[in-house]
Amino acid sequence: MEKVETGRTRKKRNTRQKAVVYQVVLDSNDHPTAEKVYERARRELPNISLGTVYRVLKELSQEGKIKEIIVNKQSHFEGRTDFHHHFICRACGKIEDVETPLCRYTCKKVEQKGYVVEDIEYKFYGLCSKCAQKLGKE
Ligand SMILES: [Zn+2]
Ligand SMILES: [Zn+2]
Repeated sequence: MEKVETGRTRKKRNTRQKAVVYQVVLDSNDHPTAEKVYERARRELPNISLGTVYRVLKELSQEGKIKEIIVNKQSHFEGRTDFHHHFICRACGKIEDVETPLCRYTCKKVEQKGYVVEDIEYKFYGLCSKCAQKLGKE
């Protein structure tokens, strides 16, 4: 009896944790790392552990609900799963969404060689407009 209760409680808690982590990622448009997601999820669930956040983020990415992007060997997460690219500022580290039709043409070129393309992601590295302005003034 007690065992059943424990299992049920754990399951309930897991579902709640997953829902909160998912909501945090959906509400964040700055492509947060797992640590950032953890900080934000703790406002809602003070007892959640970083390990749980890692596990839930992995699950959500595998389910295709969120997207994982790796920048400088670090994982970042976002709730946007549609086709888009990223600009990464080397000065402030900000990751911004980039919309460009350029890839459709490149994709066709690749597919002509017989490849089946399932996903494409471009990463542009440089200075964001704010940092470019700041550096330009110096
Ligand atoms: Zn910047
Ligand atoms: Zn994005």
